[in-house]
Amino acid sequence: MAQRVLIIEDERQLVRTLRGYLEQAGFEVLSAYDGRTGYVLARREKPDVIILDLMLPEMDGLDVCRALRRDPDPLVADVPIIMLTARVEETDRVLGLELGADDYVTKPFSPRELVARVRALLRRLQPVGSGRAHSGGHLRAGPLVLDPVRREVELDGRRVDLTATEFEILHLLMRHPGRPFSRAEILDRVQGVVLEGYDRSVDVHIKNIRRKLGDNPRDPRFIQTVYGVGYKFIGDVSHGE
Ligand code: CA
Repeated sequence: MAQRVLIIEDERQLVRTLRGYLEQAGFEVLSAYDGRTGYVLARREKPDVIILDLMLPEMDGLDVCRALRRDPDPLVADVPIIMLTARVEETDRVLGLELGADDYVTKPFSPRELVARVRALLRRLQPVGSGRAHSGGHLRAGPLVLDPVRREVELDGRRVDLTATEFEILHLLMRHPGRPFSRAEILDRVQGVVLEGYDRSVDVHIKNIRRKLGDNPRDPRFIQTVYGVGYKFIGDVSHGE
């Protein structure tokens, strides 16, 4: 069955262009021209990926993102979201990432690049058994347990809700405890696509992970900032079955 992409974007010409590229790449495409319709469609159709414009009539992209991430249905709450932004201000992109978008693309962009991003996002979300080699059993670091098969994280026995990207970053760091990763390397390993100037997004994802794990950057239990380099996981990680 074809994977489905929902485009929520009010520039109809851009929707037509993207639809053409995505369909040619084998995706089924749904579209909405305003935020509210897009939100309703996302909840009803449960697409595999959402391409979400920031500036939208009815309900803006940030509100749509926030509402989806709070949805009680995990298929809706965990949907990968790529945000489109025409704004040059970094604050909006950062806000989008803080609200749980997985990635963003700044307009103008090449449709090919966007299709590559969609593919990269879906590739890293493929369920185990469909070809991903490295996923194994649980990773445990004290009260923190990461289950790569169910893609769940628990802290002190309580489920921690991470976005797909946050999960991948934590998974990467936990697989290599003590090893520092640069921001560019984290992006490369986690997103499969590296573009210049996107390093800042790693900081936002790390900030979100720390907040959700209650990890104080000044006195970390889990993720330590390595000055001039990036981040590393501290503490012993044991492997369960
Ligand atoms: Ca727009």
